[in-house]
Amino acid sequence: MPILGAHMSIAGGAHQALLRGKSICCDAIQMFTRNANRWAAKPLADEDIERFRTTREELGYEHVVAHASYLINLGSPDDDLWQRSQNALMEELERCRLLGIDRYILHPGAHVGTGEEAGLQRIADGLTAVLAVTEGSGVRILLENTAGQGTVLGYSFDQLAWLLDHATPAERLGVCLDTAHAAAAGYEFREAATYEALWQAFEGLIGRERLGALHLNDSLRDLGSHVDRHTHIGEGALGLEPFRLLMNDSRLRSVPMLLETPKGEDLAEDVVNLATLRGLIGREEPIVTLTAPVGADSEGRRA
Ligand code: ZN
Ligand code: MN
Ligand code: MN
Repeated sequence: MPILGAHMSIAGGAHQALLRGKSICCDAIQMFTRNANRWAAKPLADEDIERFRTTREELGYEHVVAHASYLINLGSPDDDLWQRSQNALMEELERCRLLGIDRYILHPGAHVGTGEEAGLQRIADGLTAVLAVTEGSGVRILLENTAGQGTVLGYSFDQLAWLLDHATPAERLGVCLDTAHAAAAGYEFREAATYEALWQAFEGLIGRERLGALHLNDSLRDLGSHVDRHTHIGEGALGLEPFRLLMNDSRLRSVPMLLETPKGEDLAEDVVNLATLRGLIGREEPIVTLTAPVGADSEGRRA
């Protein structure tokens, strides 16, 4: 069976993310380790750590991953911001270590006008510096593929592979694949043949053993739009078929698959999306998408 879960809020304490996830039957949890929109964070108290570890033990969660906060940009050409990003990253990796979280998902960064090559080099250097300082922490950084919005890097398997090649040590690095970002970046994987081709490209450039997590989101905007907007499973440009293929892909059984779709405090949307995904397990016939491409007539032909 696939390992399914969702991003959960840590409001009220880190352990609350686990309790929230459990309340809607998540098999895996993604969470921030602190407020994701601010630089400053108060240190984790011993009792917070204890509470998190005990709750996790009680609930039996094997797969818990952290997501980096949003201000971090290892691609920044501004030395001050670049250093602050590294410091924040080190702090968050330390929080992961204290909480016993072994995977940390990071958007590689944006070059902010200096160009892709310079940005990628900057990211690789930043990663290497952070990994050196946090040596022995045991926390692995998973670089997430992006939609390529603005000057954001990491939108192609080529770029992720380049970063994995140029940052060290390699064993502390992996990849998180986000389905909405892949679609927005222009990857086509909406039926069996293209789905297979996507994984072949992934295997050839990155390697499946590097895959530490998957983000399951539909994309509100079209393939190749480079716009990062998530929507509910089956309701966006992807439709249900790629998710059916993911749910029944035996090669992905050990990789946690996490929703990052819009939701309210009662998590009702997560409940629906998880039910949709679980409903696809074991379904053998392809699902034909009912929504015709923009500008097409009722039979799907382009005008
Ligand atoms: Zn992300
Ligand atoms: Mn994501
Ligand atoms: Mn996104």
